[in-house]
Amino acid sequence: MCLEAGDRMDAVALAEHVGCVVRSAGELVHIEKLRALKRLQDNAFFACTFELPDHRHGIVFNPLMSDPRRNSDVAHEVAHILLKHRLSRLEHLGDVAFLSCDKQQEEEAGWLAGCLLLPRFALINDLKKRMTHKTIVKNRILSEEMVGYRVRVTGVARQLAVSRRKRS
Ligand SMILES: [Zn+2]
Repeated sequence: MCLEAGDRMDAVALAEHVGCVVRSAGELVHIEKLRALKRLQDNAFFACTFELPDHRHGIVFNPLMSDPRRNSDVAHEVAHILLKHRLSRLEHLGDVAFLSCDKQQEEEAGWLAGCLLLPRFALINDLKKRMTHKTIVKNRILSEEMVGYRVRVTGVARQLAVSRRKRS
């Protein structure tokens, strides 16, 4: 996996690159069951991680979610795996049990997922080309919230404004 600053990070490809097995939940349970769950609670299930018997990780995502949502959710699961978080809390989704992490680990995973999907250098690349947030959202298949969040926490907009002022 060799990406340039202008290239889009695909979270499923990233997960497979780091050795995970990625499956759509639609391959494991009937899609109607997923639809029923979503009708019951829209945000009940985004993605989750399992430890496989061969010590690899499996990531299962909900195929009913939007592409930006899936990108974000799968990257979040990859972040947990890369950070070697211990899956410590047992949760249930219908008849399926899965493990989740504590609050601090959730924050760490959220931060790393953002860095993986929209690294600082990639964001600078796009903003230097005067792309709007909407264009970045579209090109990189990310949510508006994710792009806004990365612009805020990286401080790149401010950095570029200062360097533009210096040049003029
Ligand atoms: Zn998490």
